[in-house]
Amino acid sequence: MPFSQRCPFLLAILFVLAPLLRAQDALLLENATVIRGDGALLENTSVLVENGRIQAVADSDQLAVDAQVTRRDLGGQYLLPALIDAHAHLGYQSSEGWGAEYYGRENLIDNLQQYARYGFGAVFSAGSDPDEMALALQQELAANPQNAARPLFAIGMGPPGQGPNDAFLIQTAAVEARTGMTILRGLDGPVQGIERAREVAALGIPFIKIWVDDRGGSQEKLSPDSYSTLIAEAMRQRLAVFVHQQSPEDMWHLLEVGAAGFLHGRLGPQFTSELAAATARAGAFIVPNLGLAELRRETIGRDPFLARALPARERQRLSQVSNQRQIEPPLDPEREAELRAAMSGLLEADVDIVLGTDAGALPDHPFGYTGHRELEIFVRLGMSPMQALVAATGNAARHLRQNDIGLIEVGRRADLLILAANPLEDIRNTRRIAAVYLGGQLLTP
Ligand SMILES: [Zn+2]
Repeated sequence: MPFSQRCPFLLAILFVLAPLLRAQDALLLENATVIRGDGALLENTSVLVENGRIQAVADSDQLAVDAQVTRRDLGGQYLLPALIDAHAHLGYQSSEGWGAEYYGRENLIDNLQQYARYGFGAVFSAGSDPDEMALALQQELAANPQNAARPLFAIGMGPPGQGPNDAFLIQTAAVEARTGMTILRGLDGPVQGIERAREVAALGIPFIKIWVDDRGGSQEKLSPDSYSTLIAEAMRQRLAVFVHQQSPEDMWHLLEVGAAGFLHGRLGPQFTSELAAATARAGAFIVPNLGLAELRRETIGRDPFLARALPARERQRLSQVSNQRQIEPPLDPEREAELRAAMSGLLEADVDIVLGTDAGALPDHPFGYTGHRELEIFVRLGMSPMQALVAATGNAARHLRQNDIGLIEVGRRADLLILAANPLEDIRNTRRIAAVYLGGQLLTP
């Protein structure tokens, strides 16, 4: 006998109670200027959040809700999807220093909480994490988010014993030795390419990161016959392969065999409009990744926005770092013109640009902070603020296959960033963080 026939009275009570119960944890963000994440701008809009998800997005005058819903009047403030960093290396940087000794569950969570304080809802750590620890952390945070951004991981591959930059390679090897888990999987020939893709599919991690770089001669470059079979089998297994490439010339073949995206732009004269067009045709994305080279010349410790990331003692240290850092290093006009030309090529070809910082691969390139600085560089080089924000939200979510975040849209997770000033007028207004919600929960500092 169906439950409803046995207990009609109980069911009736449940139906009466359900809306009331729901109303308790529902949140209405009223009178927002919504920057949706796909290029759309919605003025005077209200967003209803229930059970951690966006339940309605409507004109503020038209949305009728239960009286018990918690209301927050944004008074025209700017509501965006939480940002996404599509290229980072979690775990090695701590507020104490950088290296393998800091890698572990607690520091990973600390890094992700720092991202969240900067308005980031998800982070892609690109091939430098021990597989089992990465999976365990994802499960732990899915069950209990702990004010942390969502971590996404890739399995890293290069020629056996190689991949990350030489200094970083030593650290990944040390973490492997200490944890007994695998970070880097060697790839030696076409047969192994197929085996490796199947191995990753079985692990349940949807991304593979490959390094195609000889590191100026100190490493061997991953061979096309190794990565071709890997990518082909990865596609059969519905995995995406993202590439660290040193040279734009390597991108032609990588695109041909199905690379899903590039974690460095390598923008410059070799990044021709033909290459941009080929990238767009293939549907691959580009993470320009400009800040790593540029910001590391700055004495960023004096920037008050860094207070969200680091204790005063560390900011003090960073403001004194003098190894080639300057307060405002001058831009080389020739290099700037090359970057602007390459960026304009990407925009004209309508390539999907995605925000990524490479934060954590080297010391003192702070998580979250560097994402906001990358947005500034995007705009300086010719992107509109709206295009820059799409790169950090909708585009990033789509290419990282996170279809439940990255847009202000019904059904998506309520990972939200509220800004007190208009980022479309001045991209530096992404620093004016009024509130961050992750899964509908207001971040508590
Ligand atoms: Zn990287």
